[in-house]
Amino acid sequence: MDLKAKIRNIEDFPEKGVIFRDITTLIKDPEAFEYVTDTLAERVKGQDIDMIVVLDARGFLFGSPVAYLLRKGIVPVRKKGKLPADVYHVEYQLEYGTGQLEMHKDAVKEGMRIAIFDDLLATGGTAKAACELVELAGAEVVSLNFVIELTDLGGRDALGGYDVFSLVQY
Ligand code: IMP
Repeated sequence: MDLKAKIRNIEDFPEKGVIFRDITTLIKDPEAFEYVTDTLAERVKGQDIDMIVVLDARGFLFGSPVAYLLRKGIVPVRKKGKLPADVYHVEYQLEYGTGQLEMHKDAVKEGMRIAIFDDLLATGGTAKAACELVELAGAEVVSLNFVIELTDLGGRDALGGYDVFSLVQY
């Protein structure tokens, strides 16, 4: 399927010079959403995963239906202050300032095999922080899975050593 035809490009969002890749047009198309979900699930199926970790917020949209198909549980990684119980916390560098992500301390157990999902890989900062959270819990990141990859931003290199997969590259 031509997924690029389903993803909307918004120029100068959130700031001048940036082309925002908008997946809302993809997820409202049932065939495209089914194709993306099935393809991601097919890939992760053979990885002997215990749990699926989904990244706030658009990662929830793709990782959750995959978890349902594979009959796995879902663990949300959220922005600071959203999770109610005890959390692991990591800070990471953004273009301006720092980002902060959290995961419940009791969400994944030591030794578990984890697949992480987000909508888009850019610099890899967000995904790397999510890997740190999973590893703080003593679990293993088996794969990182994205719908979109912005190849010029070097995310794949920043995530060197991890198994990185994306469906569409710009
Ligand atoms: P990174 O941390 O630089 O890899 O940025 C990835 C994060 O930023 C992901 O959680 C994305 O949801 C978000 N993001 C960055 N650029 C875009 C875009 O063009 N469309 C949708 N999300 C984006």
